[in-house]
Amino acid sequence: MPVVPMHEILDPAFAERYGVAAINVVDDLTLEAVLAAATDLEAPLIVQTSLKTVQAIGARAFYTMWRVRADDVPVPVTLHLDHCPDREWISTCLRTGWNSVLFDGSELDVDENTRQTIEVVAEAGGYGAQVEGEIESVVGVEDGIGSEEGGEVHPVDVSNDFIAATRVYSFAPAIGTAHGLYKAAPALTPERVSEIVAVHPIPQVLHGGTGLTEEQFTDLIARGCAKVNISTALKIAFVDAHREYLDANPAKHDPPALFAHVRAAVKEMAEYHIRTFGSAGRAFATTSAAV
Ligand SMILES: [Zn+2]
Repeated sequence: MPVVPMHEILDPAFAERYGVAAINVVDDLTLEAVLAAATDLEAPLIVQTSLKTVQAIGARAFYTMWRVRADDVPVPVTLHLDHCPDREWISTCLRTGWNSVLFDGSELDVDENTRQTIEVVAEAGGYGAQVEGEIESVVGVEDGIGSEEGGEVHPVDVSNDFIAATRVYSFAPAIGTAHGLYKAAPALTPERVSEIVAVHPIPQVLHGGTGLTEEQFTDLIARGCAKVNISTALKIAFVDAHREYLDANPAKHDPPALFAHVRAAVKEMAEYHIRTFGSAGRAFATTSAAV
C-alpha cells in the first residue's frame, strides 16, 4: 500500500481511539528505519519533517527520497510538515507533495492566526492535503521554532471557535506538554482534549510526547489524540547510538557498521511507540486509493 492522504490514516484511528505515531525523521537512514518499523508491525505511520530538516535537505530532494522509500512499503504512510510558521514554505511543501501541514500561527494573535489558517486550509484543499491547526505555542524550542517560555493558554471555547472558523482537519490543543525533555513530571490538562472533541469530533494531536508515561499516552489517545508526535525520542536514539558505537569501536572506520547500529536503535524506538499507541496490526484497517 503506497502513500495515502492523512485523513485515511487518522479517520479510523480517531474513530477507534488508537494513536498513530508521527515521527520526525532527519535523513534517509531515519526515514528508512521508521518505515521498516511500521512494516514489521503492520502499522500505519505518519512521517514528519521539521521546517529545519526540509530547509537542510531541500523540499524536492527530501520528497523524492520519501516517495522512493514509501512507494515500496506495504503499510499506509503519509507525509506531514511539522510546526511551520512560514507561509512560503507551507506553499512549497504542499506544491511538492506533502499530504498535511501544521501551520503554526501560535505567535500571531488568535484573529490573525484564524484568518491565515483559513487561507492555508483553502490552499491545502487544492492539493487534497489536510491542515493541522494550533493556537497556543507548545513550550520548548524544537528545531529552532518555539520558546522556552510558557505562552498564554486560552479558554477551550477559543479553540472551539478557531476549529469552527478554520475547518482544520486536526488540532493541537494546549494540554501542558512540552517539546524536549521534561525536567519534572508535567502537569497535564487532558480534560481539554475531551472538551474540544465533545464539540468538534476531529483528530487531536499530541505534541511533546517524549517522556510521557504509557498511562498518560493511553489516556490522551482514548480522549481523541489520534496523532502522537515523536521528535525528541528519535534525536536521542539517533545521537546516542552514534556515541555508543563510536565509544565501543574507537579504531574502526566502517560507515555501514555504524549505520546498521544507528538504524537498529531508531527502529526499536519507533516500534516501542507504535506498540504503545495501539496501532500495531492496524495497517489494513486503512483502505484507500493511492495519492
Ligand atoms: Zn510540536
